[in-house]
Amino acid sequence: MGALAGWRGRAVALLAFGICLGASAQREPDAGREPRPWRVLILCDAPLEVPAIAALTESVRAALAAGAAPRFFSVHSEVIDLLQFDLADHESEYLALLGARQYATRLDLVMAMDSAGAFAVRHRDRLWPDIPIVLFGMSPEALAEIPAGVRAISVAYDFDEAGTLRLARRLQPDAERLVLVAGDSDYDRAWGPRLEAAVAREGAGLEVEYLVGRPLDDVLDRVSRLSPRAIVLYTTYSRAPDGTTFTPAIVVERLSRLSGAPVYAVIESQIGWGVVGGSVESFAEHGRRAAALALRVLGGTPPEAIPVEPRGRPVAVVDWRALQRFGLSAAALPPGTRFLNRPPSLLESHPAAVAAVGLALTLQTGLIVALLVQARRRRRAEEEARQQREALAHAARLSTVGELSASITHEINQPLGAILSNAEAAELLLANDPPRIDEVRQILEDIRAEDRRASDVIHEVRALARKQDVEEVPLDLNGVVGDLMALIEAEGRRRRIAVDTDLEPELPPVHGDPTRLGQVVLNLALNALDAVGDEGPGAREVLLRTRSADGRVELAVSDSGPGLAEQDLARLFEPFFTTKSDGLGLGLSIVRSIVESHGGQVAAENVTGGGATFRVRLPAIRKSAGPMADGRA
Ligand code: ADP
Repeated sequence: MGALAGWRGRAVALLAFGICLGASAQREPDAGREPRPWRVLILCDAPLEVPAIAALTESVRAALAAGAAPRFFSVHSEVIDLLQFDLADHESEYLALLGARQYATRLDLVMAMDSAGAFAVRHRDRLWPDIPIVLFGMSPEALAEIPAGVRAISVAYDFDEAGTLRLARRLQPDAERLVLVAGDSDYDRAWGPRLEAAVAREGAGLEVEYLVGRPLDDVLDRVSRLSPRAIVLYTTYSRAPDGTTFTPAIVVERLSRLSGAPVYAVIESQIGWGVVGGSVESFAEHGRRAAALALRVLGGTPPEAIPVEPRGRPVAVVDWRALQRFGLSAAALPPGTRFLNRPPSLLESHPAAVAAVGLALTLQTGLIVALLVQARRRRRAEEEARQQREALAHAARLSTVGELSASITHEINQPLGAILSNAEAAELLLANDPPRIDEVRQILEDIRAEDRRASDVIHEVRALARKQDVEEVPLDLNGVVGDLMALIEAEGRRRRIAVDTDLEPELPPVHGDPTRLGQVVLNLALNALDAVGDEGPGAREVLLRTRSADGRVELAVSDSGPGLAEQDLARLFEPFFTTKSDGLGLGLSIVRSIVESHGGQVAAENVTGGGATFRVRLPAIRKSAGPMADGRA
């Protein structure tokens, strides 16, 4: 870019560049009074109506006010419009105007931006000799205008055309065409070489169209016919070929509205006017850095002691609404992208409500999880308890078998003995001549009956001792009792106790597991036999009775023993409660757990006239409930 083009560089370029010309800031007269206000002139290179210029001067002014406080200061601004008008045509007018203002005697500092900075340096002797100058918003082209030998403090700044193009391609990976737009002023046309450099870096595979220095109507018409697969990169359109001037930000608003393709910009203040976005450096930040430099110079720091600052980092700024309009995905944007016009999230608009809902949800989730965990633990504990009960019941049945071993042996030996003597008798009868066949047939009948009796006993013992899964079927409680009577009666005979039954005919069936209900019958019967004891005066009886009433079936086991002690009544069914020297105290607790698992109850009472009765009540089922088990497992 040539010297003239550089001088006419971007009005909105934001490079802070400080130089000291002559003496440093004036020293305050020590009058013991309020220090004299600082007076600062900001020399702009485009009208204050240009949003970029407004944003920049405002941020400088605000940062100066904050940094100078409590000292007061006044800010003057002058504009030499190098955006819409070419300097060569107006330089002498500006010199005359500024000279007439007589700033030379009234200023503490001159701050000049971009190409106006080069102007300020070039005419310093005439306009403001001995006044320090801080240059800011200096583009590389404007910087090149600063004569060698001037001590400079600079904050580098540059536009990021290539970064903006990169951003556009991230958002539109399928773009085919790139349209570049600039106006016809010297300033506008100076974009040309910069855009070419950006296209060389980031434009591979795109069909490139330059709309530079063309009538505005042509530009708008062309852009309005673009498909969404094109990218429009806008710079400044500040003057048309016919000399009509424009504010670039107003043109971009029109352009974005009409364009069939997303429009991108390289100047921060143009985003928010319909432009999708761009890679830009913040004006506010740049203005603050320029003001900080100015305050150091005003405070007396020699400019040569202030190191050069690098340019600020451009960031992607994207207009949410424009993104939506073209259906572009924010997911493609780089991290750290700053959004404009993004609707506040619920959290931003109602933080308290969201926090409350979030807390409630968290608590609720926690509660649900806790309940689920608890329910699972409970199920596991229940399963473990069930398995333990089963194991215990099995052990108890085995011990019952042990208790009954004497009777069992007797019950098996007896038929075996009878079978043997019957067989011997049959041999004798057969040895007769003629053999007494009828009598032998009778004897064989007896042998078969004895054999059946022994095998019944063995079957019962096996059923008791077997460990098996619970299987509930409709069954007849009389059958359960009947099946065990051989064993119980045998045990009664051994102890010289009369065991009787009183079973209600046509007893309704119950739903249950024959083995486990058999254990209930056996436990109660053995306890009754224990209560009557091996010897003692009076009646020695145990009675097993079944009855039905009110949809229930009852088994009552009564004995003629001493009855239940009043203080034991409450504890009978507790595990390990026993009054027997060799007792385990498990029988009744197992009875209760089996009965309750069948939906029934068990209770104990004393009988008037002596002895105890244990009653088990189970729900009856209707006859239609299906085939009934006979009580055998
Ligand atoms: P165990 O028979 O091992 O003692 P149980 O749980 O079967 O365990 O019985 C607990 C206690 O209940 C017995 O020790 C006894 O004191 C009392 N008991 C049970 N049945 C009777 C009964 N028919 N008459 C009197 N007391 C009984």
